[in-house]
Formats: sequence, structure tokens, C-alpha cells
Amino acid sequence: MLLTISTTHRPATDLGFLLEKHPGRAHRFDVAGGKATVFYSEATEERCTVCVSLDIDPIGLVRGPGRKKPANPEQYVNDRPYVASSFLSVAMGTAFRSALAGKSRSRPELANTPIPLEASIAVLPARGGEDLLRSLFEPLGYTLVANPIPLDSSFPDWGMAPYYSVTLRAEKTLRELLQHLHVLIPVLDDQKHYWVGDAEVEKLMRHAGDWLGGHPEKDRIVRRYLKHRRSLATDALARLAIEEEGDVTGLEDDSPGPQLRERKLEERIGLNERRIAAVASTIDELGSKSVVDLGCGEGRLLEALMKSRVLERLVGMDVSMRSLEYADERLRLDRLPSMQRDRVKLLHGSLIYRDERLSGFDVATVIEVIEHLDPGRLAAFEKTLFKFVRPAAILLTTPNREFNKRFPLLAAGEFRHIDHRFEWTRGEFRDWCARQAEQFGYSVAFQDIGELDPVLGPPTQMAVFRRNGAQVDA
Ligand code: SAH
Repeated sequence: MLLTISTTHRPATDLGFLLEKHPGRAHRFDVAGGKATVFYSEATEERCTVCVSLDIDPIGLVRGPGRKKPANPEQYVNDRPYVASSFLSVAMGTAFRSALAGKSRSRPELANTPIPLEASIAVLPARGGEDLLRSLFEPLGYTLVANPIPLDSSFPDWGMAPYYSVTLRAEKTLRELLQHLHVLIPVLDDQKHYWVGDAEVEKLMRHAGDWLGGHPEKDRIVRRYLKHRRSLATDALARLAIEEEGDVTGLEDDSPGPQLRERKLEERIGLNERRIAAVASTIDELGSKSVVDLGCGEGRLLEALMKSRVLERLVGMDVSMRSLEYADERLRLDRLPSMQRDRVKLLHGSLIYRDERLSGFDVATVIEVIEHLDPGRLAAFEKTLFKFVRPAAILLTTPNREFNKRFPLLAAGEFRHIDHRFEWTRGEFRDWCARQAEQFGYSVAFQDIGELDPVLGPPTQMAVFRRNGAQVDA
């Protein structure tokens, strides 16, 4: 059984850093049912391909410890060693654990960046045919090539097997591709070799919570993934529905946006609207003419700012292509009259790198972004923002961790969003801001956003930095 994943991102050998597996070596793992080997069939600047080869021991499977000898020897003869099944999914979970969680020690930025990816699965079972394959992968944005495999090529009359050789292509983060394969391979196989219980619901939410809610086949995916255990499927679908509720209120489009849970928590208190209103009115008070929104996500702030007649230049930047696509749709940039079109732009970029396109603005906004950065990357971010972007004013917001006690859905110590790398208390935030202001020559003031709890403070905290000596006012 062979799965390969290739990229043409330059340098393609970064794939080794993303997977935390050196391309020069073979990596072996004992996994359920057999052994997995991870190795690279090519590793150049232009293209890099990692292979996962899985050797399943069909006799061991049947005769495993504690099992009786089967009465029927046919049980030894099964497709398990030859097809992509839940065994492959489990092996991926072992071999690519950190990449599946979206983590990479030496390429954290790239781990969050969509790159051209191609996955090939030598033999993928699909009882339900090519239509089923397409209905699972195409809504996620993949181009899919599926070649049916004959039952036996020496006997064409026997017809086709319910197996396909499949290639998927898309521009995605590596984590997204791994999550999609990890969840959908067992769904296609529709057999599971292990006991399916509550832990599987958790696992499904962890790997698919961000993208399954908006998938047109979510019912089928959930039922098959949970091996048709109705109570578990009901539970999982209810949880996906909660995460999706944003759609019902009309705040959302029907896309599975990445910030669902946080939105769900904060929606009840109208926090997003309040945040946007607070930021927009401060921009107005500052008399700014140009704004760059760093980590603009799906473009909600830009949408509000576009209504201003005073703002002459609006730029949104984000590291996530998917978010930029949503933003592009939300702002309907292609349908704007040409004068408006020049006023608003979306850029793909990163807050960790110096980027000339981000300089020369009156105001930079960094709204609910800093907590998504790895602490190890904060120093680079500080330099980009305060030294290179260096606008006259900076508005930066982040959750106030103390307020989390007021969210009953959050367990103690849990963050509002699974992608948050940290959340700061009021004191921690103020300390950080004061250090930046001191080091880079800014003054800083603070504003509370959202309803103030007398003990815990506001749900969101905003810092307003002003560059020393800068004249923003028109
Ligand atoms: N500002 C938006 C989105 C907040 S979510 C809003 O308030 O709705 C955080 C955003 O930061 C995501 O869109 C994520 O893609 C982006 N982001 C995370 N790391 C980034 C980086 N290094 N550079 C640019 N954007 C980044």
C-alpha cells in the first residue's frame, strides 16, 4: 500500500521540514497491523515527494494476540494489505503527528501557508464509485483524477473492482491535505479495524471541525467515519451544527470559515461587531486616510471600512489564501466600479517578513491575530510591525484570557480557538505593549471592547499605538 505526497513549492525540500522527516533517510514505524516506512522518492529544489509505504500482516491481523484461530481460512485472504484503509489513516497519525496538528518547529509560517500539493493513493477502495470520490474531495477544492482498477487485468470480462488509483491536486496547507486524507480514507473504505467510541467523535472534531461543517456530504462522512453508530453520529453532527450556527444568523456565508468556534463563543455577546465598530471609530478619530489590515482574514473589518468616504487606500493582507478568497468574495472586489477597485486591495503575505508593500500607511490594524503567532515568532512580528511597516498609528486587539471564565463552553485553561498559540491576561498584554512602545518610539493607550466584567475585565482588549512625533490628523 503506497501513498505519495508531492509539492512543487520552492524550495520543495521544505516538505521535509514540514513533516519533520529528513529526506535523506528512511523512517520506520511499528503501527497497528504492521509496519510503516516513510521515505522520499525525490527531493530537489523543484519537486519533493514523500512516500508512505504500509506493510500490513494479514495473518497477524486475523490471529492477533488473544484471538482464536479462525475456522475459515478465507479470513486470511483480505484486501487489507493492498488498499488505503483505516490502517493507513492511523499510520499517518503516527508518522505525521505534528504536521497533522499544523505544527512545524523550523517552518511554522509555511505550515500555515497554502502550497501546491499532490497526493496519490495507489489503491483506494470506493464502494459508491467515482461519484462518491468526487462528492467527498471536490467540495474541498481538489482536482481529482480517478482510474478504476480492473478485478484482474488478465480477465477483463470480470469487470472493475471497487478500487481506484487516485490523484488529488490542490493548493492547500499541508495540514489541510493530511486532515482530509486522514478523515476521508476511512470514510471511503467504510471499514474500521478498531473500536469506535466517544474518543472517535473527539478525533473527528479535532481533524475535521474546521472544514466538515460546511461540507455537502457531512452526514455521510460522519456516519461512515463513526462506523454507523447512530448515537455517536448524532452527537458529532450536533456539534458541527453548533459550530456552524453562525450561518443561521446571517453573519456568515455558507463556507466553512476557519474561525467558527471562536465566532460561536463570541457571537452571543456581539463581540465581532463591537470590535469592528471600535476599530472603525478610532480610525475615524485619528483622521487616517490609509489603512493596512494585517491578518485581515475574511475581510470583515475591510468591509466596514469600505463604507468610509474619507479612507483613500485600504489594503488587507493575510497568510491564508483561503481566507483571502473568502475576503475577495465578501468584498465583491471584481464587481466594484474601477475607482473603488483601486482603493481596495488584498495581498498574500506574512507578518513575519519584511514586505515593502506594507509600508506608507497611516494606520495598521492587527485584529485578533497576534494570538495566532507562535511565541517564537513574536520577535520577528514585532520588528515587521514597528520597524518596517511603521505606520503613524497601530490598532491591535487580542482576547483577554481572564474573561474566558465567562464562556461556559470553554474548559478551564482552554483557548477560544484551537489555533490560538496563547491568550494574554490584561497585565501580560499591557506589559508587552509597553515594551514595544518603549523600544520602537511609540506611545500606547488601551481601550476595552465589549461588555466589561467588573472583576475579569473586557472580553477583548485593544491597544492604540501612536508613533512619537507623527501627525496623523488631516
Ligand atoms: N483580523 C481578522 C481575522 C482574525 S483570525 C478578523 O478579525 O476577523 C487571524 C488571522 O490571522 C487569520 O486569517 C490568519 O490567516 C492570519 N494570520 C496568522 N498568522 C499570520 C501571519 N504570520 N501573517 C499574516 N496573517 C496571519
